[in-house]
Amino acid sequence: MSHDHSHDDDHGHSHYDSPASRRARSSFEVRAMALEAALVENGVLTTDAIDAFVDVMEHRFGPHHGARVVARAWSDPEFKARLLDDANTVLTEIGISGVEGNVRVIENTEDTHNMVVCTLCSCYPWPLLGLPPTWYKDYAYRSRAVVEPRSVLREFGLEIDPDVRVAVWDSSAEIRYFVLPKRPDGTEGMSEDELAALVDRNSMIGTAVVAAPA
Ligand code: FE
Repeated sequence: MSHDHSHDDDHGHSHYDSPASRRARSSFEVRAMALEAALVENGVLTTDAIDAFVDVMEHRFGPHHGARVVARAWSDPEFKARLLDDANTVLTEIGISGVEGNVRVIENTEDTHNMVVCTLCSCYPWPLLGLPPTWYKDYAYRSRAVVEPRSVLREFGLEIDPDVRVAVWDSSAEIRYFVLPKRPDGTEGMSEDELAALVDRNSMIGTAVVAAPA
């Protein structure tokens, strides 16, 4: 029986993947596996239940939902206004369930770039974005994002113009922040499906922007 419940989907940006953090992660993985084995042996959980949970996290939840919400907000001003005002109600209406706490959508504008962190742990809008990437949980990101956000963004390859304010939002169990990225130029007339395909996870955390179509 082999259970691989690691979710290391961090591509690049290895500043947060120091040897020390890899060692720490592997010790957590060992602990997680021991805990899983104990729970299963004692009949508290079944491996099927664990697999079902992981399946939900990896398939039913995910950034494709967030991208769909962004594309709709770009296409429908009334939807966008309601989303910014009361995201939970709007998400429920469009069939996105399982949101824990209040989701607050923050909009990137010409003047302000938003980025999200959870300084305490890794609070994150799972139904909209799936499981958080490894770097989101890393102590380096959690501490540096609030102190030197522009440097952190630079390490993600994102240079924010000095005239643009960078706002950092600290997610918690009560409020999960979600960034509505700016709609790129050159996307006039695109369908919602075409727009959604441009939107990636990091742009909804604020560590990337949505690039204009090639
Ligand atoms: Fe957290």
